[in-house]
Amino acid sequence: MPFRYDPGELGPQEVEIGVSHCGICHSDLHLIANDWGISQYPFIPGHEVIGTIAAVGADVRSLTVGQRVGLGWQSNSCGECEWCIRGMENLCPAIEGTCVHRNGGYADRVRANARFVIPIPAALMSEHAAPLLCGGITVYSPLRAHGVNPSSRVGVIGIGGLGHLAIQFARVFGAEVTAFSTSAGKEEEARALGAHHFVNSRESKALKEVAGTLDFILSTINADQDWATYIQALRPTGTLCFVGVPPSPVAVHAFPLISGLRSISGSPIGSPYQLKEMLDVAARHGVKAQIEPFPMAKANEAIEKVKKNKVRYRAVLAN
Ligand SMILES: [Zn+2]
Ligand SMILES: [Zn+2]
Repeated sequence: MPFRYDPGELGPQEVEIGVSHCGICHSDLHLIANDWGISQYPFIPGHEVIGTIAAVGADVRSLTVGQRVGLGWQSNSCGECEWCIRGMENLCPAIEGTCVHRNGGYADRVRANARFVIPIPAALMSEHAAPLLCGGITVYSPLRAHGVNPSSRVGVIGIGGLGHLAIQFARVFGAEVTAFSTSAGKEEEARALGAHHFVNSRESKALKEVAGTLDFILSTINADQDWATYIQALRPTGTLCFVGVPPSPVAVHAFPLISGLRSISGSPIGSPYQLKEMLDVAARHGVKAQIEPFPMAKANEAIEKVKKNKVRYRAVLAN
């Protein structure tokens, strides 16, 4: 039986969204299992929401009832700290997650602060746009932050929910793109998504061949790898950036970092401004998530399929 709750009065700066679609992100699976120790039950997952504004709070001027909007991982911030003022709300220490201590988007309705609710460009179909709200921004933000441009050589590790979007965005930015995957069967799909090169990362010889060729490598996977090999794949001044979380600590020697001015970094989602920019870029350049649709009522079935890694590349629930 579906869980029902009374959300109380709508806050003056909040909006209520009538959910039409919600993507299933791997973070939802971690929250369902309380892997991070922050879940509260009964728990409603979901933070890749598309829907229409059903109600606006008394102080909301930026959005109107009936407008099509999106909501991602973040649903509020303090609005006053250094990071909020600098337009880097995703770094706010008081960040509120859409489905952390709040009721998320596997639902009929969801609420958030209006600053984090972004209009969706008309050119984007809702089911293809939903995964951009978390998966998309997670890869878009670091590609922008690290200045990826037509002179860049970019590597993307993992061709899944995040990776298949990273390949598309890197290609839109004009970079030469190398996809790394442990499944040789994904080569054709990687190339269709825009990758110029494909490296089967199970073959150590293939990995060694790309030594010193890449400016920026984005790791989207949640598995341990021989990270030293990827550091070796970087050109001087290159960066290995994590958006996926390997289970073990990342152990590498400092020498190649020092000698080639190379860096290791990470990146958390993106700001509301960046979300807006990303959606605009996706609309103008045809970036879209490849999805498998499920009715909202079959959320449990969809989650099981995501757990078994059988969805290419994002499951999206629809009301
Ligand atoms: Zn997510
Ligand atoms: Zn703040």
